[in-house]
Amino acid sequence: MRTRFPPSPTGMLHVGGLRTALYSFLVAKQTKGEFLLRIEDTDQAREVAGSVDAIVRGMEWAGLTVDEGVMMIDGVISEKGTRGPYHQSKRLPIYRKYVDQLLASGDVYPCFCTAERLEKMRNDQAARHVAPMYDRLCTKLSTEDIAAKIAAGEKHVIRMKVPHTETITFNDDIRGELSFKGHTIDDQVLLKSDGFPTYHMAHVVDDHLMDIDIVTRGEEWLSSLPKHLLLFRYLGWSPPRYAHVPLLFNKDKSKLSKRQNSVSVDEYIEKGYLPEAMINFLAMLGWNDGTTQELFSMDDLIEKFSLERVQKSGAIFDIEKLDWLQGQWMRTIPLDDFVARIRPLVEENYPEAASDKDFTKKAALIQERITFFKEAPDMLGYFYKEPTVSMNLIASKKQKIEAADVPRLIKILIETLDAISEKYWNEASIEAAIRAAMEKESVKLGQLLWPLRAILTGREYSPGAFEVAAVLGKGVTMKRLLTSAKEDL
Ligand code: GLU
Repeated sequence: MRTRFPPSPTGMLHVGGLRTALYSFLVAKQTKGEFLLRIEDTDQAREVAGSVDAIVRGMEWAGLTVDEGVMMIDGVISEKGTRGPYHQSKRLPIYRKYVDQLLASGDVYPCFCTAERLEKMRNDQAARHVAPMYDRLCTKLSTEDIAAKIAAGEKHVIRMKVPHTETITFNDDIRGELSFKGHTIDDQVLLKSDGFPTYHMAHVVDDHLMDIDIVTRGEEWLSSLPKHLLLFRYLGWSPPRYAHVPLLFNKDKSKLSKRQNSVSVDEYIEKGYLPEAMINFLAMLGWNDGTTQELFSMDDLIEKFSLERVQKSGAIFDIEKLDWLQGQWMRTIPLDDFVARIRPLVEENYPEAASDKDFTKKAALIQERITFFKEAPDMLGYFYKEPTVSMNLIASKKQKIEAADVPRLIKILIETLDAISEKYWNEASIEAAIRAAMEKESVKLGQLLWPLRAILTGREYSPGAFEVAAVLGKGVTMKRLLTSAKEDL
């Protein structure tokens, strides 16, 4: 199947757009078809410089490789394919040709109404509580009137004629069977007075000429679908399949907005999200494979995704879920790659990390807990710098540790660990020694582990005490315990 993503270059790549693009991409890939990127730049007033670049880079980052259309070639935005151009602004003669065909067949008509007249008409309709619709005044013009107005250079648009008595039915790949009553459909403008087509005309022509098999797009277009189906019919073409993807919502069920969430893909890239996490998250906004599986790689998605399983109702954009997936994907990075990513960040803060032979061991400890690479310097800080430890941190109701017990607990830890020789200093022997001390001194395991971990890391959350002590080594472990014993915490 040939599918496409046709964004308008009106700003950044939107996360909702990336999700729609992903669904299209998956359908193409699972059928070994082609995925196209077309730029819908027919609204020149809304165009924002740099958006095509942001869109192309965002798609590349996400792994949505484009087979045809607009793409980056050797660092330059270019076009590839035999059905171009792929920027709509470069296709104006093509649209004109089909508009002329429609004028000849009588399926469209020129409309000379001014903006002022249309506004007045809409206000009157609003006052009468009727839906805003063009009143078809210009359909009353004779061929001579039209010719004269055009000869006089009067500004006009081209509108489609919608049959009011017809009911248009269609089967959407996600929504199922839909039907629309003709009298509720406006005579849509197809060609603007500046010679540019509207989305309605342009996408129909392009999706036909570019041999698109299935159009996956946002649900906001669903109400325009009957116009598009009519246009295909007027032009003598069969329409592609359509799949209208449900909207995205903020947590409070309002429409996804910048006020509550970052909506630009660039912001997520900047924050350090992995493309794997983002793709996994976006795929599951409104889709699941019917099992409890939550981690899906792009390959899994290509294999398992299906439009039939996309839900009809809107999906909540839940950042906590994204962060959880981000953590899961961080764990899957091969340790050497993980080390390569975090090492420069850690060295920037702790130059001594450059010569640290145990760096990989330390990295392995935090890879289990990290969400973003940029957290690494902070998470590894206590390995390079003695932490400040307070009684507040060590005394803990949850662990049943009273401040008054702390000196005794530290003393037990010092005696117990000092008895392990350097040679046998490892996680297993540290654990065995502490478990034995727990029995001997009639204390709970947590009453020893919590202070040990707190003293070694200075943090409320960190890898476990045995692991940290083993990696820190006997020398540093004993030094930190002795310091804490001496200090008035
Ligand atoms: N240019 C349209 C948009 O950005 C494309 C909609 C479609 O996928 O057909 O919303």
